[in-house]
Amino acid sequence: MNENKKIIYLDYSATTPIDKEVLDEMQPYFSEFYGNPSSVSEFSKEVKMAIDVARGKVSEAINCKREEVFFTSGGTESDNWALIGTAIAKREKGNHIITSTIEHPAILNTCRYLEKLGFKITYAPVDKYGIVNLEYIKRAITTKTILVSVMFANNEIGSIEPIREIGEICKNNNIVFHTDAVQAIGHVPVDVEELKIDMLSMSAHKFYGPKGIGVLYIKKGIKIDNYLHGGEQERAKRAGTENTAAIVGLGKAIEKSNLDMPNENIRLIGLRDRFIQEVLKIKDTELNGDMNNRLPGNVNICFNGVEAETLLMALDLRGICASVGSACSAGSLEPSHVLMSLGLSEKKAKSSIRFSFGKWTTEEEINYTITMLKDIINNIKEG
Ligand SMILES: *Cc1c(COP(=O)(O)O)cnc(C)c1O
Repeated sequence: MNENKKIIYLDYSATTPIDKEVLDEMQPYFSEFYGNPSSVSEFSKEVKMAIDVARGKVSEAINCKREEVFFTSGGTESDNWALIGTAIAKREKGNHIITSTIEHPAILNTCRYLEKLGFKITYAPVDKYGIVNLEYIKRAITTKTILVSVMFANNEIGSIEPIREIGEICKNNNIVFHTDAVQAIGHVPVDVEELKIDMLSMSAHKFYGPKGIGVLYIKKGIKIDNYLHGGEQERAKRAGTENTAAIVGLGKAIEKSNLDMPNENIRLIGLRDRFIQEVLKIKDTELNGDMNNRLPGNVNICFNGVEAETLLMALDLRGICASVGSACSAGSLEPSHVLMSLGLSEKKAKSSIRFSFGKWTTEEEINYTITMLKDIINNIKEG
């Protein structure tokens, strides 16, 4: 990357830069308040309190109780814990889990692992906009079903799933409902009580917090086995010395994101919709995903006849950082499982790229990107 050129970062769904205010709050917990929160000393009290404050901020943000918040090492661990911990805890009741075809690999590969252990997984399909089929979920439920896990919002196409309806279905059938809300937390309002969510995964680095820290919300009374075994941390449910600084950062980040959300979303939706409108003026382009139920910062476009890799490289040369959508399919020859689930051909799937915007995305950056896209596509098609 040319060091003189400022990069235009349009990959906020992959990860976000940490907010300066968040970083400032974290700083003292590395070298000043470094005590182990599990020790009884006066010195550790400060640390214990800071963790408690962060827990309170999470509980306020999603409307749950403090005791229902468990800090983990990120979205991946939270997803693994929710699925494996439930599967093991409920294996006497049944061996059937329902999820969707468009989940993140943290869910899908955990499901594959559980299949190897003898669990049966149903993958509910989505429509061409990426919205999960509710009737299919209803029909798939059996007496052996122990868990439904459907993501809140998709990381590639930004589609927001009918979470309230799924929560309702699960409640009526007395089945635990988990949602991978890693793309939703800090970006759209989430109220676990109102949406009847029993378990929820989040990850701080998707909302301007540090990497390597997340939460699994577990509603009181939900039966789940431990995933990490060891000490008595997190009410003896998640072992390992607390990552204090990161926990403090997550707390600050979720508080700040929720505070900024109303104004920020109006701004982002404006940028997003104008970007979509302009890019669709380029010949042979199509929007992937749902226009209405969509994350404020997500755009996913199919540039028919242009290979995504080629386009990404051309953008990169102009200092623009976008992506194919999932870090796991980047560099691999496989087309995105999400785009294939929408019914796109392999060719279309491999011609699609994701632009994701965040709080430091400016109108100038959007304008520049639109101009560059038009330029690049013209060159490719004529050259
Ligand atoms: C990023 C992401 C994850 C993984 O979270 P990490 O904290 O990076 O492990 C899981 N699910 C979704 C939808 C994501 O976007």
